[in-house]
Amino acid sequence: MKKTLPSDTGAVTEGRRIALFPGSFDPFTVGHESIVERALPLFDEIVVAIGVNYNKLTLTTLEERVAWIKGIFRDEPRVKVISYEGLTVDAARQCGATFMLRGVRMIQDFEYEKNLAEVNRALSGIETVLLYTLPEYSHISSSIVRELVKYGQDVSAYLPHNCDPSLIPQTWKVK
Ligand code: ADP
Repeated sequence: MKKTLPSDTGAVTEGRRIALFPGSFDPFTVGHESIVERALPLFDEIVVAIGVNYNKLTLTTLEERVAWIKGIFRDEPRVKVISYEGLTVDAARQCGATFMLRGVRMIQDFEYEKNLAEVNRALSGIETVLLYTLPEYSHISSSIVRELVKYGQDVSAYLPHNCDPSLIPQTWKVK
């Protein structure tokens, strides 16, 4: 008899492969954009899911982040944007996502992502797909952008190519 593995539990939702790409995205950078673009051929739909933590001070409000990311993918109907509170696996279930998508830049990311993937798989059977960053984006993180914004440095190189200039806060320095 075939043993049912947790990952067999609906690995494809009604014939569609949906991946949840969870993160803080404060802000969503060119590194995040690249992960979504490169993952699109692997999935039918990617849901960018902004995790809300009201105890954390953020550079951008939740509403700004949602509008920003929706704007970047305005021409790609297969990318959706949501926000969620609580467990990421619950957000995934609510979207019908049976995969998590995450990015890896360096060895420290790998260890962190491995633990997250194991916990999420144990909780829900949801498998995590990790993509390595493109080398040109491996030094880019939201925290670097936040730091540069704080000190008035130009952040153009870190922002998605396709972002709506009207959504870039006026206090950010861009070329
Ligand atoms: P979190 O707070 O959950 O780490 P982030 O918004 O910082 O969320 O990142 C979301 C995901 O995107 C993580 O898997 C992270 O490793 C990945 N990521 C962040 N920056 C990059 C980048 N430059 N290249 C590839 N992946 C990245």
